[in-house]
Amino acid sequence: MPLQRKQQKSGLTGIRQPQGINSSFQAMNSLILILVALFCLFSIRVQGESPKPKPFGSPTVGPNSQKPPPPISSASPQSVDETAKPPVEKNPPPLDPNNRDPSVKPQDDFFIYANGSWIKRTQIPPEYSRWGSFNELIENNNDALHDITEKAENTQVDPRLAPETQKVGDYYASGMDEKTIEAMRIGPLEDEFKKIESIKDRSELLKEIAHLHSIGVDALFEFASGQDAKDSTHEIAQAVQGGLGLPDRDYYTKTDAASKKLRDQYVEHVAKMLTLTGEPAETAADHAKKILALETKLAEASRTQVQLRDPQKNYNKMPLRQLQDLTPDWNWSDYFKSIDLLEPGDVNVHQPEFFKAADQVFENTPLDDWKAYLRWHLINAAAQELSKDFVDEDFNFKDRTLRGTEKIKPRWKRIIASTDEAIGEALGKLYVAFYFPPEAKARALELVNNLKEALVDRIKTLDWMDEPTKREALKKLAAMRVKIGYPDKWLDYSLLPIDRGPFVLNAMRAAKFETTRELNKIGKPVDPTDWGMTPPTVNAYYNPNMNEIVFPAGILQPPFFYANADDAVNYGGIGAVIGHEMTHGFDDQGRQFDAAGNLRDWWTPQSAAKFKERSQAIVKQFNEYEPLPGLHVNGELTQGENIADLGGVKLAYAALQKALDKNPQEREKKIDGLTPEQRFFLSFATIWKSKQRDEDLKLRLNTDPHSPARYRVDGPFSNLPEFQRAFNIPDGSPMIRSADKRVKIW
Ligand SMILES: [Zn+2]
Repeated sequence: MPLQRKQQKSGLTGIRQPQGINSSFQAMNSLILILVALFCLFSIRVQGESPKPKPFGSPTVGPNSQKPPPPISSASPQSVDETAKPPVEKNPPPLDPNNRDPSVKPQDDFFIYANGSWIKRTQIPPEYSRWGSFNELIENNNDALHDITEKAENTQVDPRLAPETQKVGDYYASGMDEKTIEAMRIGPLEDEFKKIESIKDRSELLKEIAHLHSIGVDALFEFASGQDAKDSTHEIAQAVQGGLGLPDRDYYTKTDAASKKLRDQYVEHVAKMLTLTGEPAETAADHAKKILALETKLAEASRTQVQLRDPQKNYNKMPLRQLQDLTPDWNWSDYFKSIDLLEPGDVNVHQPEFFKAADQVFENTPLDDWKAYLRWHLINAAAQELSKDFVDEDFNFKDRTLRGTEKIKPRWKRIIASTDEAIGEALGKLYVAFYFPPEAKARALELVNNLKEALVDRIKTLDWMDEPTKREALKKLAAMRVKIGYPDKWLDYSLLPIDRGPFVLNAMRAAKFETTRELNKIGKPVDPTDWGMTPPTVNAYYNPNMNEIVFPAGILQPPFFYANADDAVNYGGIGAVIGHEMTHGFDDQGRQFDAAGNLRDWWTPQSAAKFKERSQAIVKQFNEYEPLPGLHVNGELTQGENIADLGGVKLAYAALQKALDKNPQEREKKIDGLTPEQRFFLSFATIWKSKQRDEDLKLRLNTDPHSPARYRVDGPFSNLPEFQRAFNIPDGSPMIRSADKRVKIW
């Protein structure tokens, strides 16, 4: 139960560790932030609203790290279950020509031209549902974190002197202690099951739901703190749709044969899990059906992924009285008392219609069904921290069935991921101390400033945006905060007890700690030093409420960032990532927030109309892509990310031109026969180098706001005259959209 910080960030990719759906006890932490991450590592936790990403689990080695990551010692007793390690180059050369496919021309399909040979010769490792640059980096990072956790585990330290080492070492040790975990099975959760069993009426049912929320278990709905979207200086309570066990509401409502089959498999999975807790098979099968029925009612009342993209519709701040009217059958003051929230204040109810429906479900579902549902959600959250039978069944459905993954990851990787989710800033503190030199931060900051300058230039010269809107846009850009590497202020875990006792209890306490920390924010000023990702994460995000861009240490390394490569490579890599996150501040969602992070319309109607026209064109472009027969990219769902990809490349290219202006001799220099401009585009295509299983692709087409990798390259490039020029491509080529169809925003 690696506690997941729930995030709604627009990350670079929606990365989340591939282990579980709602993989564990999820702290209800900041589930409301609209964080836009670079990509979704594991975007299964999507039903409510993208949670604040703690896309955990993408550890990497610091960029310019002087020390190469220590190789995993195969002699280590902790590494016994480490088999068939995915092939990862420790120091990949920039733009490896061996990855290119010489039989494909740049003008026909640039993604394949750049990565085709790699795609042909590479097998997706059995423990992955997709495999590419991001994963290779994560593997390298895992090695670094493995070294750290094992050292911490084997170091006898006085906890007062090195609290992080003690917590990381003990957490990791308890997770690696398979013997105890197997012997105890669900024993450590006995009290939790008893509590559920003892529910006698609906008032106790609500109190138990509140208790489960406080230990990070998703049930019925979600409740958390989050910035007030219209007063970004304050944290307020937030109530959000939730309570599902499948990745998204559509999984319950679609009527095609594949969806029906998946629901049957889900029912089987739930029944198996309940059987493992000791229910007789027949009872468990009956309960599983009832659980599906209950969740289906919640799903039917839930908003779709596309509907959730509208921040105005998700903003329904109301006094308690009004909240109580929405759900006449449960008593909010009981709920608040149970989660120790003394002064909830006004609550933002993201989806009021969901709560109305949830009230009916709450009242009309038999208590016995509720108990089964809560047992299921508890075990679903905790499965990964329990004995092998639970872990295997959890993997079987969430990874094998839903994502096509063939094999579970070695234990040590799963425990590192769990450590990162549970006490990520303790692990991160140790990580940056060893793997993130201060020079890397300085260099990244310089790049950010160059990209900012490029965006200032673009905004000033845009022909479709009028002057008043430009002034506000420039104000917003000037106010955009930048975070690089790791937090200035680390989380203090001193009140969180971590020991070498039962692993599941460590994870549960960590989830509770995080939930409490989040709930304590309600009614208080926003803490601008807070981070939504841990330092080792290979990802980045923009958070519109904070108007900030954030780049964890984990991503500031090859192939995104090379200490010694030419500018073209770095601008095409990390430069485009920085540009991507920056333009999220001005995408279909981000543009609705102002310089201070408030949801406030600062656009003139004319400029807004022109923006919409342009963003509709990108929706249309991506709707046409068909990655699997009959399955198209959802242009609406992915528009924010597609706008950011297009903007990111455009800005990084402009920033590269500026850098080349300062060093004219560089402009003329060819490396491996390639001009700086060609190397720039190749570098961008390289970061998206990847292969994916069909099941994973399908899941992501349904839920991931990011387009599949291939279209993140070919999509934006086909709109850019800069790209056409760089490779001297004739009009009418497959990679070149006709002039009237080209999308141009920035
Ligand atoms: Zn993004």
